[in-house]
Amino acid sequence: MPAPVSEPRSVLVTGAARGIGRAIAERFVAAGDRVATFYRSGELPDGVLGVVADVRDTAAVDAGFAAVEAAHGPVEVLVANAGITRDGLLMRMSDEDFEEVLDVNLVGSFRVVRRASTSMIRLRRGRIVLISSVVGLYGQTGQVNYAASKAGLVGMARSITRELGGRGITANVVAPGFVDTDMTRALPEDLRSSYLDAIPARRFATPDEVAAVVQFLASADAGYISGAVVPVDGGLGMGH
Ligand code: NAP
Repeated sequence: MPAPVSEPRSVLVTGAARGIGRAIAERFVAAGDRVATFYRSGELPDGVLGVVADVRDTAAVDAGFAAVEAAHGPVEVLVANAGITRDGLLMRMSDEDFEEVLDVNLVGSFRVVRRASTSMIRLRRGRIVLISSVVGLYGQTGQVNYAASKAGLVGMARSITRELGGRGITANVVAPGFVDTDMTRALPEDLRSSYLDAIPARRFATPDEVAAVVQFLASADAGYISGAVVPVDGGLGMGH
C-alpha cells in the first residue's frame, strides 16, 4: 500500500496568474491545500504563494522550489502548466521560435518535474500532471513547434510512470482542446469560428473544466491512473 496522503498537501502549479493555471490553483486553494506558483507577472489568486521564477532558468527553478519547500513543505502535487505559442508555417518558422516553445513547454516541464521528483521519491508519494494539448496528438497547421512540445509531454509522463511508478508517484497528461483564455482570445475571429465548427461540443472549455480533471488526477482516488492522456476537448480529438 502507498503511504497515506496527508492533507493539506504542498501543491505547485506553474503559471497560475492567468488562464488554466489560475483555475487549477483556485481549485486546490478551495480544497484546503497549500498552493504555490512560479510566475513572472500579473496578480495571483487569493491564497496562492507566488515565487517569481522562469521555467527556462534551471537555477531559478531550483531556488523557487527551495522557497516553496520552506513555506509549504516538500511538493507533493506538481502541475506543469506554463506554456506559450509562437505560431508560424513550417517553412517560415525560425530556429528561435521553435526552440523558445520547446524550452518553455517541454524543457520547462522537465526542469520542474526533475526537481519535484527528488522530494516525491523521498516521500514515496507524488502526483505529476503535465498540461499538454489536443494539438500534441492531432497536429495543427502553423504549430509544428507547439505540437512537438506537447507530444513530448506524453513520452515524458509515460517514462516517469515507468521510472517512478513503484514509488507511489503518478504522472499523467491532461490534453485540453480549445479553452477560453488569453491564449485563444488572441486567435483571429474566423479561426475561432472554424474551430468551433470542428468541436462536437460546439463551444470552448472553461478553464475550470480543465482544472476539475487536474484535481481528480491529483486526488487519492486517482492513485492507480498513471501514464494516461486525459482529453478535455469536447470531443475534438477523439480517436487520438
Ligand atoms: P495563458 O493564459 O497564456 O497563460 C500561460 C501561463 O504560463 C501564464 O501565467 C504565463 O506567465 C506562464 N508562462 C509562460 N511562459 C512562462 C515561463 N517561461 N516561466 C513561467 N511561467 C510562464 O495560457 P493558458 O491558455 O492558460 O494555457 C495554460 C496551459 O494550457 C499551457 O501549457 C497551454 O499550452 C495549455 N493549453 C491551453 C489551451 C487553450 O485553449 N487555452 C489548450 C490546450 C492547452 P506570464 O504571464 O508571466 O507569461
